[in-house]
Amino acid sequence: LLDPSGQLRSTIFEEMTALARRTGSVNLGQGFPDFDPPREMVDAAVAALHAGHHQYAPIVGVPALREAVAAHQREHYGLALDPDGQVTVCAGATEGMTAALLSLLQPGDEVVMFEPRYDLYGAVVDFAQAVPVAVPLLPPTFTPDPDDVRAAFSPRTRAVILNDPHNPTGTVASREFKQQLVELATEFDAVILTDEVYEHLRYDGPHEPIAQLPGAAARTLSVSSAGKTFSATGWRVGWVSGPRDLVSGVTAVKTYLSHSAAAPLQHAVATALCSPASFYERLLGDYRERRDVVVSGLRAAGLHPPMPEGTFFTVADVSDLYPLAGVQDATGLAHHWAETAGVVGIPVSAFAGPGNRGLYADWLRLAFCKRTDVLRGAMAGLAASI
Ligand code: GLN
Repeated sequence: LLDPSGQLRSTIFEEMTALARRTGSVNLGQGFPDFDPPREMVDAAVAALHAGHHQYAPIVGVPALREAVAAHQREHYGLALDPDGQVTVCAGATEGMTAALLSLLQPGDEVVMFEPRYDLYGAVVDFAQAVPVAVPLLPPTFTPDPDDVRAAFSPRTRAVILNDPHNPTGTVASREFKQQLVELATEFDAVILTDEVYEHLRYDGPHEPIAQLPGAAARTLSVSSAGKTFSATGWRVGWVSGPRDLVSGVTAVKTYLSHSAAAPLQHAVATALCSPASFYERLLGDYRERRDVVVSGLRAAGLHPPMPEGTFFTVADVSDLYPLAGVQDATGLAHHWAETAGVVGIPVSAFAGPGNRGLYADWLRLAFCKRTDVLRGAMAGLAASI
């Protein structure tokens, strides 16, 4: 987290956002929507403020939100959760993942992770002085070799981290892959920690949480949040659900992190989570349109991005453009695009540790959580630069 001179290292998200700002580029790097949350949720937040929800929420979260999380998991996935004891509310999925990992890990414990991956996982495994065991997701499909997955588990494995749908690759975990994780977690008595914040951005069929698989629920902590589903990444409202004993551990740790998440916003998210199916359909329809603008823009630029199956990210192998741009990797191209096309993306290598970074040197991630006119403008800039 510190560079060799002891300075705090900035995250890739901050770095690329600063690049976008400096060059006046469209920021398709850090993933946050440029449109507002649903009006009903904002109204519910205002109403909660006027209703006097100004003091600490219960550590585990306000009952209305825990009940809404349980109802959502039941209605969408058929998962049964007791809102009293099997759900804890956190300050975003960030705190949920952090508290879950800190509650599980002792120094020296091993954590199986898949790369590329969201940067937080590695940082928190480091905080806990645990040992990351990274399995590469192999381009261009970003699926792991099942033999690599098996080889990553050992008697010291305490947890395996899944992120499904997957940031940064936009892929969805296959049934076989999830099945293998459940089998290995069972064999080695490990906890499955699953980050499902993109659960409602799944383009080709309903999301299937790993907790639904036979034998999984008893050893799975599921993390999600309001940020992506309700276009409110700044609200910092997330939750962790799973078996009672594991959720108690998460609550114990989060007591000394944030204590509790913002009380009025929890009430508003409780309302939003009970949205009718039509809300989730519209969200997906809008995102499908944004996805198609970016994928066809990249194709028009001569690239062959795999069609994202989930999330609001697309990745593309940009190596065909190196000769024209005079660069040697996706990091170079990201800087070149910022200067010449007015578009900023994030090199996928930033999501991997030193061992696997080379595998992703040619891949760039673009976030398409922006208004379609903004995305069209970005793609026009790209076309004009080539
Ligand atoms: N989850 C978002 C992304 O991957 C934002 C991350 C951040 O700013 N920390 O882009």
